[in-house]
Amino acid sequence: MTARPVRLLIVGPQGSGKGTQGVRIAEAFGIPVISTGDVFRANVAEGTDLGRQVKSIIDAGHLVPDELTSAVVRDRLAQPDAEDGFLLDGYPRNLAQVLHLDEYLEGRDEQLDAVIVLAVPREESIARLHKRAAEQGRADDTDEVIAARLSIYENETAPILGVYGTRGIVAEVDGVGSLDEVAGRIVDALEARGFARSAAA
Ligand code: AMP
Repeated sequence: MTARPVRLLIVGPQGSGKGTQGVRIAEAFGIPVISTGDVFRANVAEGTDLGRQVKSIIDAGHLVPDELTSAVVRDRLAQPDAEDGFLLDGYPRNLAQVLHLDEYLEGRDEQLDAVIVLAVPREESIARLHKRAAEQGRADDTDEVIAARLSIYENETAPILGVYGTRGIVAEVDGVGSLDEVAGRIVDALEARGFARSAAA
């Protein structure tokens, strides 16, 4: 198996560990991780115009408008380090964003190769988010906001898996287990699809 550009998306409910696993997998495959949540949080922390525009939306657990989010992703994907593959974390998150991404990638003659879905039961996600709230004090990890974010996931994000499923690119992985166990399952699922990692996961 030779390493070739791989374009990945990682999807999972809040608290599924997708952020942590996304970083691991991106490192293993030698590609940049593009996390819209991280981009927004960094802009909020730096007090940029974008940060000021999105702060209250993120704090409430709602989705940032599609046009704004898609523009952020397009800019990031246009950076040279994303030419030979990337891992998207948290985008697309609804059907409109799937269309935006399709259109953008088509213009580059590219497409997503695999969509990794981290399957974690709702109760487990909630328990992990409460733990993170205690440890990191994120404004969007309160009970009310957690419930809002999980219902957005179920109503808006889960349906995108139907679209990617018809393309045959969805790899569902059991997200319950240690970090190493789950990372190992993701790498195995990608290798089974013919994608070779470039470093130890
Ligand atoms: P995350 O860290 O992926 O859970 O993202 C944190 C927050 O950023 C979300 O609750 C949304 O407010 C916002 N966000 C991240 N990605 C998107 C997206 N693709 N579309 C809209 N809003 C997003």
